[in-house]
Amino acid sequence: MKLLKYFLFALFLQTTVMGQTQLPAWQKGLLDIHFISTGRGNAAFYLLPDGASLLVDMGELPLNNDGRGSPAVPDSSKSAAQWVADYIHHFHPLGNQAVLDYVLITHYHGDHMGSAREARRTHPEGQYKLFGITELGSIVPMRKLIDRGYDHPLDFREAAKEPRSSSMRGLGQFEDYWKFIEYQKKTNGLIYEKFRVGSVTQFHLINGREEFADFTIKNLFANGDVAGISDTTVAMRKFKKGEQVDENNLSCGIKISYGKFDFYTGGDIPGIGHTGGCDFFSMESYAAPVIGQVDVATLNHHGNRDSQNEYFVRTLQPRVWIGQSWTVRHPGEEVVRRITSRFVYPGERDLFTNFLHPANQTFLGNMAEEHYQSISGHIVLRVQAKGETYDIYILDDKTTERTVVKQFNYKSR
Ligand SMILES: [Zn+2]
Repeated sequence: MKLLKYFLFALFLQTTVMGQTQLPAWQKGLLDIHFISTGRGNAAFYLLPDGASLLVDMGELPLNNDGRGSPAVPDSSKSAAQWVADYIHHFHPLGNQAVLDYVLITHYHGDHMGSAREARRTHPEGQYKLFGITELGSIVPMRKLIDRGYDHPLDFREAAKEPRSSSMRGLGQFEDYWKFIEYQKKTNGLIYEKFRVGSVTQFHLINGREEFADFTIKNLFANGDVAGISDTTVAMRKFKKGEQVDENNLSCGIKISYGKFDFYTGGDIPGIGHTGGCDFFSMESYAAPVIGQVDVATLNHHGNRDSQNEYFVRTLQPRVWIGQSWTVRHPGEEVVRRITSRFVYPGERDLFTNFLHPANQTFLGNMAEEHYQSISGHIVLRVQAKGETYDIYILDDKTTERTVVKQFNYKSR
């Protein structure tokens, strides 16, 4: 009895820091998705049911002081990549020995891969600038890096020879990104692959493929190519070779299914036409059928006003929407209207975001109060084995203790 009491007390100490609760450690069978709050762009750290790890994006925008952006979180004493490395070391089962089995860069924008303009240092041997993905990859070893590839619809290696061309504007990080990949391939055995649309095996479990046969990650779309609904082929090709297309359209999207549970994330694809209505020729409208109904979805394009068209929202009907925001424009008021409207789809839904700008909070008023369960912090989605239920934890992003602030429970559809 005494021993049991001692054990319970030790357990209590382990999960409690000064009266605050730590996130219970990941265990085999759980799917954890951490939407890390840095204030500088997207970074989501996944622990798959067998312990394989995946990072989706490593955004790092330049710090801005114009009052419209989010502040660096927890502060600017470290770069976003250093904070993300610190976060991964905190929650990865291997702690400081953590390795990322997969990294997916959804598309080539600074808030998803880092911006070379932000680089303060150069890798001493690799001679590439350290920012976002190139800095994180130099701290946390990566086994496989996957992105949309650089040759469709436009060949960036050709376009890069003319860096002043409109298609290369704002994409100045390529030279360093490619140098980083070559260096990591040579010295650390990094494998680089292009995202394969339709594949259900490119992101596969490593130690539990048989044990967790009800777990899959399907590659839905990239470069405007969209997968078939019930097979692994490319069903539609939106863009022609050589076409100049806004980078957001070319984002990679995935769907994770785990038993009854479904999750969608798809970078920055747009869905609203220039007149403000649902655009049936937009990437969202092309993508919606292959995504189908899900339990949890991240907001496309951070909830920017050109995203989440009615058709897309009605098709997905998620119970939980997660936003990864970094400016006062995230999310747009009309986007919140659409995703919370009972006319678009029935039933309850909850909204979460890493950051809601105070000016936007005031502007959204009652809508924010009524629908947002949380407007700051790291957001952790934890799906139980078989996917019957899932939880959302909000972790404090102001300190490195990262204690649990709130917890919510849901049943999968
Ligand atoms: Zn973005």
